Amino acid sequence: MSDLFSQESADKERIDYLRKELNHHNFLYYIKDAPEISDREFDALLEELHKLEDANPQFFDPNSPTQRVGGGLTKKFKTVKHSFPMLSLSNSYSRTEIEAWVARAYKSLGDQKVFFVCELKYDGAAVSLRYENGVLVRATTRGDGKSGDDITINVRTIRTVPLQLKGDYPEIFEIRGEIFMPKPSFVTLNESRKAAGLDLFANPRNAAAGSLKLQDSKEVANRRLESFTYSVVSDADIADSHYASLELATSWGFHTPLLYDNYVQRVSSVDDVMQFIEYWNEHRHDLPFEIDGVVIKVDDVYQQKELGYTAKSPRWAIAYKFAAEEAQTILNDIRFQVGRTGAVTPVAELEAVALAGTTVRRASLHNADQIARLDLRIGDTVRVEKGGDIIPKVTGVVHELRPVNSKPFEYIQNCPECQAPLVRPEGEVVHYCPAEFTCPPQRIGKVQHFISRKALDIDGIGSETVKQLFQAGLVTGIADLYKLRVEDLLPLERMAQKSADNLIQGIEASKTQPFERVLFGLGIRHVGETVAQKLVAAFSSIDRLMEASIEDMLLVDEIGEIIAKSVFDFLKRDDAQILISALRDAGLNFERTDSGGDLLMSQVFQGKSFVVSGVFTRFDRDGIKEFIQKNSGKIVGSISSKTDYVVAGENMGPAKLEKAQKLGVRIISENELIQMVEQQ
Ligand SMILES: [Zn+2]
Repeated sequence: MSDLFSQESADKERIDYLRKELNHHNFLYYIKDAPEISDREFDALLEELHKLEDANPQFFDPNSPTQRVGGGLTKKFKTVKHSFPMLSLSNSYSRTEIEAWVARAYKSLGDQKVFFVCELKYDGAAVSLRYENGVLVRATTRGDGKSGDDITINVRTIRTVPLQLKGDYPEIFEIRGEIFMPKPSFVTLNESRKAAGLDLFANPRNAAAGSLKLQDSKEVANRRLESFTYSVVSDADIADSHYASLELATSWGFHTPLLYDNYVQRVSSVDDVMQFIEYWNEHRHDLPFEIDGVVIKVDDVYQQKELGYTAKSPRWAIAYKFAAEEAQTILNDIRFQVGRTGAVTPVAELEAVALAGTTVRRASLHNADQIARLDLRIGDTVRVEKGGDIIPKVTGVVHELRPVNSKPFEYIQNCPECQAPLVRPEGEVVHYCPAEFTCPPQRIGKVQHFISRKALDIDGIGSETVKQLFQAGLVTGIADLYKLRVEDLLPLERMAQKSADNLIQGIEASKTQPFERVLFGLGIRHVGETVAQKLVAAFSSIDRLMEASIEDMLLVDEIGEIIAKSVFDFLKRDDAQILISALRDAGLNFERTDSGGDLLMSQVFQGKSFVVSGVFTRFDRDGIKEFIQKNSGKIVGSISSKTDYVVAGENMGPAKLEKAQKLGVRIISENELIQMVEQQ
């Protein structure tokens, strides 16, 4: 009996010794980065401890170094109230805002000397760690700031979180910090997830937050998370200044930023604060972990108390966030869209990421050149930017996060919709699907373009109806529109007698549209509204246009080689000729019809710019613009000193009128405008 007892006490003594030794070496290895024993020696000690603990379950301690590897499971995390609320900091984005914050502090503190501590803002998950008698008793997520989830079992596996403190620590206190996933761990994690066919994490922050909520702590241990602790919270007075409390925390064995040369700086001026911010804004990508800004705190604890808190955050601290219009996320795939002209547009499929207040899942990639220039690869972590436009764009690759086995992206060679081999015309950056009349999105797109307001402007039919007509097999191309009958339409969903009648009437009315609209409606690549007008002005009928050579077309103002070749090639195609003759048979205009003879094409407005404003009696809004353009004038949107004429209709805005008068721009009526052409 006494033998057994002495064996047990000897074991206990050895267990205590091993735990202390292992904690010490863990500290040297993970926190000080200065190991004194080899990995093998460390493992041998750990193995011995494991055996002794197994033989003596009565000495189990959740903070034993053997518990670092995890093993405990959590079904549901317990919600725990924070002893001290976990407030968030107010954010700032500019020097002006920092200056204003500093000015407010100076004002409240009178003529006291103020020091500021600048620190990095780690991009991870905030935690609160509670220590009692030098032992970690609880780790809690921020949650809503008042209470969070108890994730102690998972946090124990993080090597830079001390389980047993050393030195002269307070009996009870909490310390706040950030758990994050270093960039290399993030890359390894995503690579193994990809190999296993699992969803990828968009960024290290999501990966860290996700890991902390895993149910299996053994899995958390494999995630290689790390921590920084940066703020001691206690009822007791710990130190006179924030900086001094960081020094103390470091001495108790915490992984604090003070262990690094330049992660923390105590300064006394706005200029110094800005210097710290600017340095890290520039060098943040050199860090082995991600930061999203800098935190600035008033150093003196008594000054902190004087400044106090708002409802949401301390007045003595502020976060400076680096430009937020850029985000990093994973490029999951590159897909291709085929437009109505056959132009192929690559689109980046991204892991969802928050960017400038929205969730971004896709971004424009423009063309093959851009993909090659950026050397984008599937699985890359990419930088995504959102400028003034709505569509975000990919601006670069984070090379240090590139998976090891990634391959350069090979641009597609065949149309993703119809498999036709793609072509890339000389001098152009875009790839096209040449199957204009068979490729489904091109066929539908062409009809949608044909009916659109600036083309044939067919009433009673919209883009969705076009899709419906294709699905029902009633339409396979533009010419089929003119074969539709009311009774064909009635069986369609949401198509009542009245809408069917409208649709047919709209199609009928399109036969009176002028040739330039028909030409534009054909959807010839590079032929916009203006080009169509120029071509019709120069070649009064489709027959003359079909006879024209590329050289003939080049003589026309504003028609360059790319346009001329595109028109020429189109008109030579069999399928295009079949379409044109079908439309001709249906009764569409393929000759210039100069309405009433009084709207003669002329050069009378050559070099003159016009602003059109108000309501007119002889023209509708587009009509008057068309009239000016047909006579070689230029329409501009707003009045400036360079404007030659303002054509004023009824109800012209008084502000516009005043501006025109002030700048001495000539104001004319629509009748004067017509007279100018007629007098010519
Ligand atoms: Zn195609």
